[in-house]
Amino acid sequence: MNYPEFSKKNHSILKKYLTKNIFDHLGSKKTKSGFTLHDAIRSGIINQDSCLGIYAGDTETYQVFAEIFNPVINDYHCFTSDNFHESDLSVPKLSNPDPEHEYIISTRIRIARNIAGFAFTPFISAEERKKLESKAVKALKLLDNDLKGSYTPLDEISESQHLLFNKTNLIFNKGDRFQDAAGINRDWPESRGVFLSQNKKFIVWVNEEDHLRIISMEKGGEIEKAFHRICVSLSALEKKLVFSFSRHLGYLTSCPSNLGTGMRAGVHIRLPELHKKKEGLLKLADSLNLQIRGTHGEKTRIEKAVFDISNRQRLGITERQCIQTLYTGLLSIIEMEKALAARK
Ligand code: ADP
Ligand code: MG
Repeated sequence: MNYPEFSKKNHSILKKYLTKNIFDHLGSKKTKSGFTLHDAIRSGIINQDSCLGIYAGDTETYQVFAEIFNPVINDYHCFTSDNFHESDLSVPKLSNPDPEHEYIISTRIRIARNIAGFAFTPFISAEERKKLESKAVKALKLLDNDLKGSYTPLDEISESQHLLFNKTNLIFNKGDRFQDAAGINRDWPESRGVFLSQNKKFIVWVNEEDHLRIISMEKGGEIEKAFHRICVSLSALEKKLVFSFSRHLGYLTSCPSNLGTGMRAGVHIRLPELHKKKEGLLKLADSLNLQIRGTHGEKTRIEKAVFDISNRQRLGITERQCIQTLYTGLLSIIEMEKALAARK
């Protein structure tokens, strides 16, 4: 493979750091399972509008290709090689940032986890994916109390159930073109599925972008409740499963943007006034270390002034800090929305 061509319009972090020297140095390397630099950067080359442009195929990727992954990680998370990642799953006392239920529609916290000993979704074989699904489902079926639920493989979901789950954001669909080029959609929809608790507030996606996406949902701004459920589920699952983890980078994930806590804690929030001043909202979110996504997830449009606002940083920050960042940020954003409405 020759040094890739990056277009002028490409602003990916990959382009910024993949020098010819690094490319030549890493070009012939492979992890034990056979993952190459070419595999890692395929999505970033096919999709010139990628943000990061690079994926890991297994745990070892982060060591073998550290020369390119480290600067990308440093750039995205402001996390250098001598920083350490720490976890803190204690639940802070937090009131609802929107007690009148005027702005926040729902809260969603998700944690990405991969099970040790298996390649990540861009590189896993069909056979391993199937084994992984059985292992995960066995552990999920042992959850009790409010977490008790059932698993449905995607290829067994009826059309009507699919429509309903899609509407309520409980299910996942085939990955977008970025994930597709990374190899995540291979053998779709085999060995993928959704675990749903009886009250539908606890959800686990099996074999989506990571082996597990552990999700907790609440109506309105009940952040503390949603986080508490995530913490209980993690401590139960950790007794049954061993997750890919590095002392330095925390929990290891297929996309480097999810390293560390693997956590994205966010809300769907309706902000009609700030919607008219989108640039201002983007700047405010940035200064609060928050990220804004579209109404239907990453790289989708904002509909009816409903934004998905969540913590941007996941590495070098504890889970408790992710929640606090979201909480204090939401207070500022709601205050700004109210001030703009009052000026009318
Ligand atoms: P992630 O990769 O963090 O899981 P995505 O951006 O891929 O998130 O979105 C996954 C799905 O979750 C999308 O359907 C999105 O609309 C939904 N979602 C995200 N945040 C919320 C929220 N606060 N409430 C309800 N659904 C949400
Ligand atoms: Mg996603």
